[in-house]
Amino acid sequence: MDRYRKQRIYLGAEADARLRTARVVLVGLGATGSVIAPWLVRAGVGHLTIIDRDIVEESNLQRQLLYGENDLLRPKAEAAAARLREANSEVEIRPVIADLTSGTARELLTGFDLILDGTDNFEARYLINDIAILTGTPWIYAGALGAEGMVWPIHPPHTPCLRCLMEDPPASGDVDTCDSAGVLGPAVGVIGSWAALEALKVLTGKAPHTELARFDFWRNERQFIQPPRTRCHFCSEKITEFLDARWSLRASRLCGLDGIQIRVNPPSRLDLEALLTRFEARTGQPWKLSTLALSGQEGAWRVVLFRDGRALIHGDLSPEKARAWYSETVGC
Ligand SMILES: [Zn+2]
Repeated sequence: MDRYRKQRIYLGAEADARLRTARVVLVGLGATGSVIAPWLVRAGVGHLTIIDRDIVEESNLQRQLLYGENDLLRPKAEAAAARLREANSEVEIRPVIADLTSGTARELLTGFDLILDGTDNFEARYLINDIAILTGTPWIYAGALGAEGMVWPIHPPHTPCLRCLMEDPPASGDVDTCDSAGVLGPAVGVIGSWAALEALKVLTGKAPHTELARFDFWRNERQFIQPPRTRCHFCSEKITEFLDARWSLRASRLCGLDGIQIRVNPPSRLDLEALLTRFEARTGQPWKLSTLALSGQEGAWRVVLFRDGRALIHGDLSPEKARAWYSETVGC
């Protein structure tokens, strides 16, 4: 009973007790997620689902506090769950290795008191926003890049939604990524901690900060943006365009790494055993099959294929080339 004593002194017994029954989902276990998750687990939420599609890479270690060198090449969700359970075994932690798409978002994000954004892309945030519109679940936008970051608690229909402020995601060429802008670990740390703090407010029944908070920690700038007073027709009429969208095969550059990610929607179910035989015959080299993934070398590229149809192709190649390779070798 002593574990939460200091927090209970501040929050009060009733608010603290509310945390024990809270069900939270966190999408993305990169730098922001690495900070948000431990705060919630140490604060003693009842349940935390953690979702991530990636494996731990060396270039993650500079800022993704949940992982160490021993975790390299492990799925982030799995490594994070192990670390979080060490911090607090009382919390039910469910790791999910999956990609958030219009095909998976409903199943992955329904049934929670709060959705937390640890993602690094707008595609995922607009999907989360659609789920929030559809189910009335609050969510907290958190994003950081360079030495800048933003936090914004959103709860349609009680507050404006993401689309009230920004109707559509910026075109992918228009936004910096951590690849083009770089990122400083402590800046993400502040943003993740701020998001976790707003999460504690939401979960204990206190109203969160209503403005969009934007910081540049390097230039010592801060800005509080009042969201629009009017509601967009998407949230007022519960129109969920991003959830309803469908695509079959999509290729995008990996953030911070040389390579391409391929995603299939709706997720397929790859026969990795059959592909193992096929790829070994094709490349004349041994491939490695685990329960989760098939990996090996295709010429100069290192390829990891997941059962849901996803592929990571590391190396110097374009998204178009990656798509072509995938269609040709894996099929779709
Ligand atoms: Zn709206």
